[in-house]
Amino acid sequence: MPQKSSLLNNDNCIDVIIVGGGLAGLVSAIHISKHGIEVLVIEKNSYPKHKVCGEYISNEVLPYLQSLGVDPLKLGAKKINRFMLSTPKNKVIETKLPLGGFGISRFTLDNTLAKKAKDNGVTIIQDTVTDIKYLNDEFRVVTKNSGSYRAKITIGAHGKRSVVDVALNRNFIKNKSSFLAVKSHLKGDFPDDLVALHNFRGGYCGLSKVENNHINACYIADFKSFQKFKNIQDFQKGVLYKNTFLKTIFENSEPVFSKSLTISQLSFSSKEPVEQHILMCGDSAGMIHPLSGNGMSMAIRSAQMISQLIISYFTGTIKSRMILEKMYEQAWNKEFQKRLKMGHIIASLFKMNHFSEWMLFGLKNFPGLLPKIIKQTHGKPLIPI
Ligand SMILES: Cc1cc2nc3c(=O)[nH]c(=O)nc-3n(C[C@H](O)[C@H](O)[C@H](O)COP(=O)(O)OP(=O)(O)OC[C@H]3O[C@@H](n4cnc5c(N)ncnc54)[C@H](O)[C@@H]3O)c2cc1C
Repeated sequence: MPQKSSLLNNDNCIDVIIVGGGLAGLVSAIHISKHGIEVLVIEKNSYPKHKVCGEYISNEVLPYLQSLGVDPLKLGAKKINRFMLSTPKNKVIETKLPLGGFGISRFTLDNTLAKKAKDNGVTIIQDTVTDIKYLNDEFRVVTKNSGSYRAKITIGAHGKRSVVDVALNRNFIKNKSSFLAVKSHLKGDFPDDLVALHNFRGGYCGLSKVENNHINACYIADFKSFQKFKNIQDFQKGVLYKNTFLKTIFENSEPVFSKSLTISQLSFSSKEPVEQHILMCGDSAGMIHPLSGNGMSMAIRSAQMISQLIISYFTGTIKSRMILEKMYEQAWNKEFQKRLKMGHIIASLFKMNHFSEWMLFGLKNFPGLLPKIIKQTHGKPLIPI
């Protein structure tokens, strides 16, 4: 059994336990710990680690991240301000991104955030949370290997789908999902300032550069169309290569990883931002369709919102847990409901192959429309702390 750190050896009730140390979890940990509140993050994986993600982040979160002491541009992130969209039949449109963004690997970003959190005094342990119980106005967070921990507040920042969701019997977990995602890093030619979304039958692939000049190639595909092929290579050749942009990129670049990373059971079902008194943050509270390229910003924005409210709770401005939960729920719905709906509509339209060809035709004739649609799935720039 792993040793508990001295902070955790007594049976103290910790101020805040954060389940999951991805973007939402680590950003909350950094923000909250700046106010002298004790924070424990429980993350099942070690840092650094590659993750299945498109790795394009909207600029709306840049000043906030910088104010927390993490500057992606100093880590070599690529500045991105152009967007290209192609259909399965290779029709293409390009536009300037209204706010722009940057490309950075999760390998580097999550690792840097974890270091920053530790510098701020946050304790991070590597373990898997298997259950969370709320009893007598406190939480018992149960782990696989190091027993259980008591907390006054628990943030669920465990991402899209986790064993914790099963233990909590959350509604969305019962819905079957038919999508899988594949990610690789490639060495090859691709503009630094471009994010491209190339559609193919049953899915789409995002391409953009990250800090070390690698091209992130990340695609989502319908499991049914994938099943017909023996392996990822055959699927790419048989389906993705029908889009000539993708064929050119994959055929003229070298994979960096020995094996592509994959995840399955991608679900876009709606979730609750507060469940069994746990404040859900990032994908645990709700996941926008990745083609909007805004999931990471939403995770960071929800971390900011949750942190501000938790700080007010500990300083006594928010008088009760009930008010804290209500305020977070309201703030979450106000900030994200519209974005989630828009992301869902766009994704559904793109699933209709003929419609996507027509849609592109329309977008080409009304060049102001695409930036407007992009804006609908994005938020306003976050206020730095
Ligand atoms: C294919 C794909 C492409 C995407 N592309 C983009 C993009 O280009 N731009 C963008 O903005 N967004 C993109 N997203 C969305 C983005 O990846 C997520 O919205 C973002 O990672 C959410 O952050 P999070 O912190 O909520 O979750 P995560 O980053 O997933 O972090 C959750 C953490 O919790 C840990 N964890 C899980 N269960 C447990 C447990 N039981 N105990 C302990 N730890 C646990 C995990 O190991 C993980 O580190 C994409 C998503 C997908 C699937």
